Amino acid sequence: MFGFLKKKANRSVVYKRQDHCISRKNIDPDALKVLYRLSSMGFTAYLVGGGVRDLLMGRKPKDFDVGTSAKPNELRKIFRNCFLIGRRFRLAQIRFGAKVIETATFRQNSQSVGEIIEHAAEGPQEDNTFGTPETDAYRRDFTVNGLFYDIKDFSVIDWVGGMKDIKNRVIRAIGDPNIRFQEDPVRMMRAVKFSSRLGFTIERKTFAAMKRHHACILSASQPRVCEEVFRLFTYGHSAEAFKLMWRTGMLGDLLPELAAAIDKTGGEKSVEWKYLEVLDELEKIREKEGLEVSNGLRAAVLMTALLKVERKDGASRRVMQTMLTTLKIPKTAYFTAVLLMESRVRLCKPPTKPRSRFIYNRDFLDALDYNRILVRAEGGDERTVNAWADLYDQKGINNECEELVQG
Ligand code: ATP
Ligand code: MG
Repeated sequence: MFGFLKKKANRSVVYKRQDHCISRKNIDPDALKVLYRLSSMGFTAYLVGGGVRDLLMGRKPKDFDVGTSAKPNELRKIFRNCFLIGRRFRLAQIRFGAKVIETATFRQNSQSVGEIIEHAAEGPQEDNTFGTPETDAYRRDFTVNGLFYDIKDFSVIDWVGGMKDIKNRVIRAIGDPNIRFQEDPVRMMRAVKFSSRLGFTIERKTFAAMKRHHACILSASQPRVCEEVFRLFTYGHSAEAFKLMWRTGMLGDLLPELAAAIDKTGGEKSVEWKYLEVLDELEKIREKEGLEVSNGLRAAVLMTALLKVERKDGASRRVMQTMLTTLKIPKTAYFTAVLLMESRVRLCKPPTKPRSRFIYNRDFLDALDYNRILVRAEGGDERTVNAWADLYDQKGINNECEELVQG
């Protein structure tokens, strides 16, 4: 009879220290400093987001984010090295040299960090966005990104069923995916990114919502979409990622000519996937070396299937123009990509004196990589590309000799 007076049951599941694999020795010492400091002052302090997900999977997190009950003005008082960014919801960046530990007060709305920063220029707004750990878990995008690691007792707190989804390798939207994707369409690209990067399947309803609402991606902010497009290449899973973009329809929305070229060249069996697979091999090598493939090279490889279909004079410019208009890729990436596409006529012939000046071009190494990717993907002979590479190495030796002579 008094059932309605009962306190709402605590719906979180707590995994004690012995029930999960997160060890403090894998957490960044500066992130630990922030967590301990907040906790010792009586605030709730959790490690949140992708860092918890990666630690649970035995991967090295890219960055460590903190969620706390401390308000931004309190954070500023506690940490001398604290900088507040954004107006509507102030995100604290606690800086340790070049390293930043992003620390955010628990929130309740579903606005994403990208939007907060975009709105920063709009001026101060009424701040009723703070929330509890529970609301903060539910405003996140996917269950695997909604877990909290509590520094107080080293437990993992799960409001959203993320632990089970990590175990089953599933990307599942928190709440109704139809609502969550319309609210922020970039989340659909994030689903693609996490699924391809982690090798997770996208849960059925989440995937159905992506197929239904794919066109909403056109209403998202261009800089955010452009940034996510280039993120799809990182870690060397671009073939899976762009295949998913194509299957959901998002590629057709963002780059319709490319999607049409993929359809025309065999769809699931298109040479597009082969180009991207070979690029992915290079991405993995560069990542191990601590280097990054240039966005110009990435853009050129992505658009090559369309270039092959066009086959007309000036096609490189026209093909790359489509990335400039719908995605507003940076001009430098555009010009590099055009140059790489145009380098094909030069680098498909063995180097001779008049042609060999090209090795001094700033983008020569990218051009070499681009041509190798094409030849390898098409199952061709790499001897000509190797000859150009040898000539370049020779140039290095010549330069060194010159320096020695001059020295
Ligand atoms: P990565 O390893 O690429 O950094 P991440 O999961 O840490 O992956 P971030 O973009 O750094 O992703 O975001 C940190 C956390 O913020 C996410 O794990 C998620 O909980 C939340 N988040 C980020 N973007 C959104 C969004 N658009 N909508 C809802 N929650 C988001
Ligand atoms: Mg992150």
